[in-house]
Amino acid sequence: MERIDFLKLESWYKERHEKKISGRYITFSKIKPLIENLPEAFPVKEVGRSFLNIPIYKITAGKGKTKILLWSQMHGNETSGTKALFDLFKFLNDPEEMRSVRDQILNNCTLIFIPLLNPDGAEVFTRVNAQKIDLNRDAVDLKTPESNVLRGVLADIDPEYCFNLHDQRSLFTTGNPGKNATISFLAPSEGEDRVVTEGRKETMKVISSMYSLLKMCIAGRIGRYTDEFYPTATGDNFQKDGYHTILIESGHYKDDYNRENSRKFTFTAILQGIYSIATELQDVDYKDYFKIPENTKKHFDLILKGINLNGKAIDAGFRFKEELMENGQIQLIPEIAETGDLSTYIADKTIYNKEHFFKDQAELIAYIKKYTRIL
Ligand SMILES: [Zn+2]
Repeated sequence: MERIDFLKLESWYKERHEKKISGRYITFSKIKPLIENLPEAFPVKEVGRSFLNIPIYKITAGKGKTKILLWSQMHGNETSGTKALFDLFKFLNDPEEMRSVRDQILNNCTLIFIPLLNPDGAEVFTRVNAQKIDLNRDAVDLKTPESNVLRGVLADIDPEYCFNLHDQRSLFTTGNPGKNATISFLAPSEGEDRVVTEGRKETMKVISSMYSLLKMCIAGRIGRYTDEFYPTATGDNFQKDGYHTILIESGHYKDDYNRENSRKFTFTAILQGIYSIATELQDVDYKDYFKIPENTKKHFDLILKGINLNGKAIDAGFRFKEELMENGQIQLIPEIAETGDLSTYIADKTIYNKEHFFKDQAELIAYIKKYTRIL
C-alpha cells in the first residue's frame, strides 16, 4: 500500500477542488451541469430514475481490473459525499499534478460512481425518498426504485469494493476527552455475531490505510462506528454478499455547518482508500482498524451553562435541526436535547448566563430561538 503525500494533496485541494458546488443543500439540478461537462474519458450513463422520475447516473473512470463502486446521498440530506466525489472527478481529470497517484488508480482500477442515489430526498432535504422510505433499510425488500438501481448496478458490474457515503449528525464525538468525529468509518458486520470474516478484514484494511493518512491531518477527530448488525441495511447486506463495503460517515468540524471541511477530509479518505486498493493491500494490518476510537455522543451545538430553570441551576444542551427554507437556504433551529449537569460534554458554542431565569421549558425554548442560524 502506498500513502498519498498529504501536504501535496492539501495544496492541490486548495487551488483545484470543485468550486462549483458547495454548501449543505445539493440537488440534482446542481450536479447536472457538472456531470454534463465531464470529459469523454468519464462515460456517463443513466441507470434508472427516482420515484419522481429524476435521472440517476452512473459515471465510470479508469480501465483497471479491480472494480470499485461508490455511491453518495442515499440519504437525501447527507451531501458531503457527493461534493467529495466531484472533488475526486477534478483530481482524476487533472493532467498536471500528482500524476503517479492518478495513473496508478486509473490503470489498476475501474471506478463506478453513482453520485446522487436519492435525488427526490435531496430536493426536499430529507433522509428518506419520495415514498418516505429510508433506502438504507430497503436493501432486502427493495421497495424503492432507487434501491433497485443500486442493486442492479451492483449485480451488473460485480465490484470487489464498495464505498457507501453518508453524513453523521454533529452529536457524534470520538476519543477522550471528546472531539467532533469529523470522519467515522465502519466495516459492516455480516451477521448478529459480528464475526471478523475474511471479507471484513479486507474492508478493514482499506479503512486502516485511510486512517493512517487522516491521522496526519485530523488526529483525534476520526471515529469508528458501531458494528451492530442491521439486517436490512445496505452495507451489511452487501458485505454479507461478498462485496467489501466501506462506510464513511462525514461528520461535524467546529463551526463547519456547511460541511466543507468534512467534505475535504471525505475526499482525502476516499482518494487514499482507492489508492491503497490500486497499490495492493497485502502489507496492511487489518487490526489497525480497531485502533480507531469508537464514536461517542458527547457534542451539542449549543450549551447554556448554569441557567436557572424553575429554581434549579442546570445546564441545557441544544442541537440544531436543519430545515430547508423556500429560498433554498438551510435554517439551523436549536432544539432542546438534554438538561442537567452537562460538564462532560463539548459544544460549538457555550453561553454562561447565571442571570437567566426560565420558569419552564417552554420559556427556555422560546428564548433559545434567537440562536437560530441560516446557512
Ligand atoms: Zn446516511
